[in-house]
Amino acid sequence: ARTALALREATAAGGWTLLDHPMLVLDVAGTPAFLEPDAVVVHPDGGWTVVEIKSFPMIDGSADAAKVGGAARQSAVYALALERVAARMDPAPPVRHHVLLVCPKDFSNLPTASAVDVRKQLSVTRRQLARLTRVEDIAAELPEGTTFDVRRPAAELTAAVESVPATYAPECLAACELAFHCRARARQAGEVTSLGRAIRGELGGLTSIGDVLAAARGEAGDPDDPAV
Ligand code: SF4
Repeated sequence: ARTALALREATAAGGWTLLDHPMLVLDVAGTPAFLEPDAVVVHPDGGWTVVEIKSFPMIDGSADAAKVGGAARQSAVYALALERVAARMDPAPPVRHHVLLVCPKDFSNLPTASAVDVRKQLSVTRRQLARLTRVEDIAAELPEGTTFDVRRPAAELTAAVESVPATYAPECLAACELAFHCRARARQAGEVTSLGRAIRGELGGLTSIGDVLAAARGEAGDPDDPAV
């Protein structure tokens, strides 16, 4: 609420304002996620821009594409949270779809910045958020009395974790503490997801390695299916 108030006042003032680490809230499948962008700039025309500061260098005006992509995805989430704040104002201030990425210039301690277009990341994030299942709906599917209390015995906790369906992908290794557990479970079940999202996408309805091998040997599968 304090960020919304500060943004409202800065927009009404009609000048340049920089909000340092404002707190934002984004509803993720019914659960509030608290976000803290490095900065938000309010333009004299009332527009808002997300500023993201990173430690990877920008050499001769360009930076590592994978790292810029990660920063763009992160900034798109902030822009989305800002859009929700803007939507509650009348008239709604425009949230710019270019974010300002600030990095060290070459290998120096000087900053440099570049505008990054996040329209694609915004639409992907919007779609993903719309498809997410609400935590209450997942909880309703769990057996009565399931708890993830870390003080419970290991066997009980393992059973609780196993009762929640998971779709492991190699990307989980960099992002989730359950990655080794989910990877072992996916490998044990022969799920194609453990080979990566790209392969999974290409295999269509063939969800297990057994299905893929059977289709490859011509033992199973619809020959008209392009994945077979
Ligand atoms: S490793 Fe984490 S993110 Fe990946 S499937 Fe398991 S619980 Fe989900």
